[in-house]
Parts: sequence; C-alpha cells; structure tokens
Amino acid sequence: MPGTELFGSEERKEINDVLETGILFRYNHDEPRKGIWKARDFEAEVKKITGAKYAHAVSSGSTAVATALAASGVGAGDEVIVPPFTYIATVEAVLFAGAIPVFAEIDETLCLSAAGIKNAITPKTKAVCLVHMCGGMADMDGIMEVIKEHNLTLVEDAGQAFAASYKGTSTGLFGTAGCYSFDFFKIATAGEGGVFVTNDEAVYKLADSYSDHGHDHVGSNRGMEQHPVLGFNYRISELHAAVGVAQTRKVPQIKAANLKLKKVLTDILAQTEGVSFAKLADPAGDSGTFLNLMLPDTETAKRTVDELNKAGVGGFNYWYTNMYHFVNQWDHIKNLKSAAKLTVHLLGSSQDYTKLELPKSQEVVGRLISFGIRCTWTEEEAAALAHKIAAAVKTAVQIEA
Ligand SMILES: *Cc1c(COP(=O)(O)O)cnc(C)c1O
Repeated sequence: MPGTELFGSEERKEINDVLETGILFRYNHDEPRKGIWKARDFEAEVKKITGAKYAHAVSSGSTAVATALAASGVGAGDEVIVPPFTYIATVEAVLFAGAIPVFAEIDETLCLSAAGIKNAITPKTKAVCLVHMCGGMADMDGIMEVIKEHNLTLVEDAGQAFAASYKGTSTGLFGTAGCYSFDFFKIATAGEGGVFVTNDEAVYKLADSYSDHGHDHVGSNRGMEQHPVLGFNYRISELHAAVGVAQTRKVPQIKAANLKLKKVLTDILAQTEGVSFAKLADPAGDSGTFLNLMLPDTETAKRTVDELNKAGVGGFNYWYTNMYHFVNQWDHIKNLKSAAKLTVHLLGSSQDYTKLELPKSQEVVGRLISFGIRCTWTEEEAAALAHKIAAAVKTAVQIEA
C-alpha cells in the first residue's frame, strides 16, 4: 500500500487548511470557506494524471462503481458481465443497482478477456463491468472490438489501476464511465474515497447529481437547486478529499519508485526456473503496484506459498484461497444471501452461481501469487526479497520433481 507509506506533512497541511475554516462540506459556504475547495482540487489532480475530461470525487471506490453504473444507464434487470477475480465491490455494485451479474473468464492479464466476454454474451447482456486488476490493465483492443460489435455499454472499475494505462489512454477512459478507489490499500489514499471519471459531459452531469441526492449544483442556494434525477449520498468530505489531494500529487513519485523496484525483482526472478509473470497488455502502462508471479500450476503455487510462509516471507497475496478477491470465497454471492430482497431474486439469473464453471479463471488465479511493492524499499531490500522468493520457488519445484 504505497500511498500510506508516504503520509506526512503534505497531507497534514491540506487537512489543516480545512480545519482552519471548519467547512467540511464540499459544496456552497463560499464566504467562510475562504477559497478552500479540496474535493475540487482532488478532482483536478486526478484529471492531471489520467487526462480525463471530467472527474468527480465520491465517498469510496465502491460508491464510484455504483455511480459509474447508474450514470451509464445500467439498472434493474440488465445483465452485466463481470469477472470472478476482483474486489467484491464490483459485483455488489451490480447487484445493488438491480442488475444481474454474469461471470465470464479472465486470462493471464488477470482481467476479463475478449474471448471470455464474447462467450458470456446473451440476448439480455447490456453492459460489461471490466476490472483492471493488480495494478495492470486489460487487453483493450480486443475487448473494444467485442464491445462495439455487440453494442454493449462499457463501465471500468479501475479501483486498483489508478495511474495505469493502455497504449497511452488511462484505465477508466475506454468506456462510458470509469472509477478509481482511494481506500487505505491503494496507490494513493484519501483514507476513504473514490473518483468517478468520464469524457462525456452528460454522463458526468448525471454522476454529479446522482452522487448527491440529485442536486444539480447550479447557483449558490443548495435548498433551491433543481433535481434532474433521483440520487443518494455518495459525497466525499473535505477532510478526506484533502488527504486525497496530497496523496495524488505523490503518485508520479510512487509509481516511478515502484517500477524501478519491480524491475529489480523481475530481473532476478526471470532467471528462476518455474517463474513467469502475469501478462501486461501494455507493459509501458503498468502502475507498478504489484509483482504478479505465475507458477507452472496450482499445486506448485500452493507449495510455494507454504515455502514462503516457512521462510517467514510476508507481503504477498495468494488470492486463490487466502483472499476475498476470488469467486471461490464468495459463498454468500453464490447463494444470493442478502439482507433484503434484490432484483436478482425476483428475475433470476441465466447463470446458476452455485455451479459456475470458469476453468480458465481457476487455472490463472490458482497459479498467481501477488506481492505488494512498497515504494520505500531500497533496491537491496527488493533484491533480497527476490532471492527469498526464488529459493521458495526452487524448493516447491523440486518437491514435485
Ligand atoms: C478497492 C476496490 C474497490 C472498492 O473500493 P473502496 O474504496 O474500498 O470502496 C472496488 N473495485 C476494485 C477493483 C478495488 O480494488
């Protein structure tokens, strides 16, 4: 979680600006706020890094996904293709929008593949909620072909891929709308926060209203504003936005450090028998937050995890069994256990979630071990870690032989 490693005086200064005026609300109060607009500044910083025409900060990455779906016109009864490997918020957002998730296959990019999407399309498919996983990016050329051919709406959950790009375009800007998370574990944090992005003014205006009870934010009297649509409270506070401003300004520095350290790690591990890496659809667009190792098969990956644990090497995720990011751990979704009735309970799904068959995704995630890269490591520390990983893999491969 690189952003949190660099929390310091810059963050405290931005927060203090807000504490000086006491205006914790992002709208109105023009006089007493004395020109302090942290949510707007946060959005400006995100636009600078992504090149998005419009950015709108909200309370979390999860509410940013919900806003992106709503502003893209995805709602009750719409089938939405989702990956089985993502932070669960993606699937929750689809379900709570009243839409019906349909799980499709990922590939070695760790993201939905064009073929996976194509195979999951039914006459009811309205949209794809594509997730750019583990700091990397999906293979967009092929995916955009399928999206266009089938006239689908593309929404991008780039929750873990802020500052990643594909052939020069930032993740989040290929479809109708996209979003990033700034929770405590991401490349930059607001404490809690998310940012919605789009290049379409009408979509932006919908998102702006939807995430604040429908307010149109025209004029200076909030009580007398117009409400073009129904909305809800997904607002970010000025305190959180203040942290987001300082953190987002550090992203170029974090990314450069991560990429340098990742090269140290990969140069050593590329020499290790049995190690390969997740596919980066555009290596130049990597955000560098994760080193994603691919072992030859699931059994070798499991043995490698055992060896890493024995050697006391931490800081990695084995998503296949140990994390909340893969369908194997989502029994509540498979059984549609919810606090209250959802649209999917009324309409059903074309997929039986208890009998999902996603062999490619099982194979890919079974082989994957991800290390979070810490931007404060020295190159010596990164090299030492790489040698420990190599030793663990070597033992795991030998046990099999
Ligand atoms: C972190 C994350 C989210 C959720 O973001 P929060 O800010 O924690 O609500 C959504 N999607 C993906 C892919 C994520 O990694």
